[in-house]
Amino acid sequence: MRRKLAAGNWKMNGTRQDLAEVAALAAAHPAADCEVLLCPPATLIAAMAERAAGTAVMVGGQDCHAAASGAHTGDIAAAMLKEAGASHVILGHSERRADHGETDTEVRAKAEAAHAAGLVAVICLGETEAQRDAGETLAVIGRQLAGSLPATASGADTVIAYEPVWAIGTGRTPTLQQIAEVHDFLRLSLRTHCGDEAGAEAFRLLYGGSVKPSNAAAIFAVANVDGALVGGASLKAADFGAIVAALDAAG
Ligand code: PEP
Repeated sequence: MRRKLAAGNWKMNGTRQDLAEVAALAAAHPAADCEVLLCPPATLIAAMAERAAGTAVMVGGQDCHAAASGAHTGDIAAAMLKEAGASHVILGHSERRADHGETDTEVRAKAEAAHAAGLVAVICLGETEAQRDAGETLAVIGRQLAGSLPATASGADTVIAYEPVWAIGTGRTPTLQQIAEVHDFLRLSLRTHCGDEAGAEAFRLLYGGSVKPSNAAAIFAVANVDGALVGGASLKAADFGAIVAALDAAG
């Protein structure tokens, strides 16, 4: 049985005053059935982890470097995130793929570094609107999965987030059928990766892209959707809490 996961990506938003949201979220869901993860900017990880200690809220990073240390100005090693209190790290988000030209090979190296540091990697995949219009969605997702997933990755150390690029921050979402098609395809592709059904079944598959309280329940009812990666709606505990409640209710 896969434990559902609601993951929030604060992106480049939030200062110390926003840490009040952690307490509000934790108070609203003292013993959530699903896992709850917040990924703030790196500057807030340690302080957020302190606030979240003893609650059901976990804290994660939004990126890490593939190397353990060295001359990489501005970058953060996976072990540094871990030391700051992170348990997870988002990798290969489409904004990093677009803004920083991250390739599948780099994402895989970062995931290997995350695993070596004891972090769960949340690996993001997703097609652009042009790719979807060209009928290339599954080919793109298959290529990104094969290229970004470490050979040793398992459901214990890796979560896959399907995030159509055109749905992120736009208020637009795929149809439930389109989400189901990609998530079913991911589950099937993971069988090839794992070589067995049990291994593939252990991976959590998140949907991400304009998830909000009003559409969460319908998305969570789709087979093979094990939770969500949420951007804008994760910034306020009231909204994110409603999404967590919808995930809990989905069972
Ligand atoms: C994201 O950035 O991962 C995301 C899903 O953003 P939003 O929920 O704002 O579309």
